[in-house]
Amino acid sequence: MTVTASIPVVAGSPLAAARRQLSDAATYLELDQGLYDMLSRPRREMTVSVPLRRDDGTITIHTGFRVQHNLSRGPAKGGIRFRPSVDIDEVRALAMWMTWKCALVDLPYGGAKGGVAIDPRLHSRAELERVTRRYASELGEFIGPDRDIPAPDVGTDAQTMAWIMDTVSTGRGVTLPASVTGKPLGLGGSLGRADSTSLGLTIVALEALSSHGLLPYRPTAAVQGFGKVGAGAARLLADAGVRVVAVSDEYGAVYAAGGLDIRALEEHVRLTGTVTGFGGGEPLTGAALLELRVDVLAPCAIEGVLHAGNARRVQARIVVEGANGPTTPEADAILRARDVLVVPDILANAGGVIVSYFEWAQANQAYRWTSAEVEERLRERMTESWRQVHAASLRTGRSLRETATAIAVERVAEAHRLRGLYP
Ligand code: NAD
Repeated sequence: MTVTASIPVVAGSPLAAARRQLSDAATYLELDQGLYDMLSRPRREMTVSVPLRRDDGTITIHTGFRVQHNLSRGPAKGGIRFRPSVDIDEVRALAMWMTWKCALVDLPYGGAKGGVAIDPRLHSRAELERVTRRYASELGEFIGPDRDIPAPDVGTDAQTMAWIMDTVSTGRGVTLPASVTGKPLGLGGSLGRADSTSLGLTIVALEALSSHGLLPYRPTAAVQGFGKVGAGAARLLADAGVRVVAVSDEYGAVYAAGGLDIRALEEHVRLTGTVTGFGGGEPLTGAALLELRVDVLAPCAIEGVLHAGNARRVQARIVVEGANGPTTPEADAILRARDVLVVPDILANAGGVIVSYFEWAQANQAYRWTSAEVEERLRERMTESWRQVHAASLRTGRSLRETATAIAVERVAEAHRLRGLYP
């Protein structure tokens, strides 16, 4: 049986990719058309105007979004990004992927995502605080510990979460540490949260290398994006013995055949704001990084960077998706045909939401776990999820992405069947 998509989307967009992955899974699982239609659209979404008084007294208006894709397995969970080009369709796609990610690693959450169309690099800290608080207050009752729990994403950080937590708490007259995750440690953030996405990625990258028999040979890696996910991934991969030969950011890339000194590079980025100009490597273009002959390519920046136009030139043996949606469906098919193993985003970058869940659980218990406890539980969940997806993929001959999506969609579908349709 094949399900039929009933909602038009822009071809080539992240939303088109997310819907296509869902329809493939729904066809494979033989979901009925009604359930597929429910899963293919968001449960709730909100678009808000966010007026910002600039430091010079002028006012600019920014558009903000929050999409709750699914709430069947628990409250909604997902990051908030500050990025000038963010739009409702991008947020819808990211919210849907959050639903599958949470279900895949078996967290009691649905999926959500949010965004504000703003370039954080062009604003003072005071302006970012005002825009964050206004956005959070516009979302009002939409968010909260048992409704929808934001976390950092592109262009936001622990401080952004602290402002949201304070805005929600002040509005309701109580302190609600469980209303966000990825908070600063001093406000109840979890030990291990800052590097959790990168550590989860490293764990599955090492599993994938091991499945290809490459681990003993000092494998090589290239990492696109040197932000919260990419910088940590480069450092932890290097710590695990992988030779990280290239990294990039939006300004350019650096390459060193013998491996980059990632800690020195992190210090360079702290001082200059970019990986370019780093003395410990040669300059490279961001596009060339994606086509290097390496064992692992880890895209950790934005959506759609591996596409029909460059997928045939990718020489990596394994792609580990730190970013959400970095590979278009066309590129996915090309890479598959060329025998490149793609570890999909909903598995590869799930470490962040797993430790977010630990942070939320700690806030609900009013108790703090040690960093060793956090890391052990993260390793357990990532390894277990990898094994489950990898084994099922070997058994069925389907790709890791098709397998992971099908496992996740089936879990969400089961929750729908058990709850029934109201009224
Ligand atoms: P970030 O803002 O901290 O870093 C983004 C990095 O990507 C920066 O170094 C930026 O310069 C770089 N970049 C942007 N455009 C680029 C381009 N065209 N080419 C090369 N580099 C480019 O964001 P982040 O939190 O690290 O998120 C990165 C990705 O990981 C996003 O897709 C996000 O949704 C996903 N993700 C993040 C988390 C998390 O915990 N932060 C969890 C899961 C998934």
